[in-house]
Amino acid sequence: MITKSFKTEINKCAKCGKCRSVCPVFIETGNESMVARGRISLAEALRDGEIFHTELLRDYLLSCKKCLRCSSICPSGVDYDLIIQTMLDDLANHIGIWLIPRIIFKIFLPRRRLFNLLLKTASVFQSLVPLKRHGTMRHLPLMFMDGRWIPPLAKKSVLKKYKNKEVIPPLENNVKKSPLKKGGRGDVKMRVGFYVGCLINYVYTDIADAVIEVLNHLGVEVVIPSRQLCCGTPARSLGDAKTARKLAEVNVKVFEDADVDFIINACATCGRTLKRDYPRILGDRALKFTDKLYDISEFIEKFFAYETKALNTKITYHDPCHLYWGQNISKQPRDILKRSSTFQEMETPERCCGGGGVFNLLHYDLSMKIGEYKAKAIEKSGSEVVATGCPGCRLQIEDLLAARNSQVKCTHTIQVLRDAMLSSTK
Ligand code: SF4
Ligand code: SF4
Repeated sequence: MITKSFKTEINKCAKCGKCRSVCPVFIETGNESMVARGRISLAEALRDGEIFHTELLRDYLLSCKKCLRCSSICPSGVDYDLIIQTMLDDLANHIGIWLIPRIIFKIFLPRRRLFNLLLKTASVFQSLVPLKRHGTMRHLPLMFMDGRWIPPLAKKSVLKKYKNKEVIPPLENNVKKSPLKKGGRGDVKMRVGFYVGCLINYVYTDIADAVIEVLNHLGVEVVIPSRQLCCGTPARSLGDAKTARKLAEVNVKVFEDADVDFIINACATCGRTLKRDYPRILGDRALKFTDKLYDISEFIEKFFAYETKALNTKITYHDPCHLYWGQNISKQPRDILKRSSTFQEMETPERCCGGGGVFNLLHYDLSMKIGEYKAKAIEKSGSEVVATGCPGCRLQIEDLLAARNSQVKCTHTIQVLRDAMLSSTK
């Protein structure tokens, strides 16, 4: 739906072209229709009836990684995110959504059991596709995308594992010793809801284990509501506003019912969607939910004055776009890593890794090209491990490193903290 705020945002663009200097897609392609300024010109042409809703227009919209880099530099303060999302929703209203994603969004995403079944079935079919590159795996439902490194689906998802035990209490001793910062709640046990997100739930369950172990170690009770659903990012990416709303409604309700003090997540992209998009989708109704919401690194650094013994491992850090540009979080993960390891900054750590949901699926070669600089910067840092705050970035970085036969391992910041914390208690 074309709104007044959409028109206002379009009119704000001065066509200065600054976004071209930072857009990772434009830098690689040089295509004006693949950068914020060009897409805003397309929006104007659409408004004035000079172009129509077509598949070509969809191609140009979906070539945006939604990395938010352009908004960070735009001198006119254009809300580009609002513009592109409105265009995607409007396009879907006019020419619909491709059949397979439409079925997945409408039927499977809102129903956890069916979605589990879909992934299981897809992974069986995927295993029939022959390997192309050494080390590649074939378990996610990315049929025929042989050649890329794809980690296996976990044997048991996080939500299945905790289905009958949604509340994970800390040891009483940890509650007594909880290093809550001043202004915390003294010796009252903190109760925190964990929004897991799809990639952590189905693939990187080791990240969830680390989140739970660290929080329990800090004396926090962790609650994992089993009825939580996908945050809605994939549906929004293709303009399925109805499904995105349905998912947002369920998630907000589920965490309201869980009656928790705070809600944390460990995925930069989910976190950005929950924090910024839920109030846009649901209005004030979402505010009770978003007021309690923290990225895990933000939460730990805000509330705890913990001590830990640094690991003897050289670790560098990659800033996920949706944490760095999307949530203004960059100091907290570094503070954690500096305390937990031998920290080594890489060159331009905030530069995009090239990953990013739908973009990565549709423009795989381009995403690998964008990520080349990142892979080189990681290797140049001389680190043994690269940490990040997003499972999506981890997926992309593991693929980039596997393509180079690199020995560097990729992990999540919280896993480094867990290893350091638990080793210092031994
Ligand atoms: S930087 Fe902002 S004002 Fe300049 S062209 Fe890009 S979107 Fe328009
Ligand atoms: S969000 Fe990222 S990919 Fe999209 S136009 Fe802006 S800088 Fe380019």
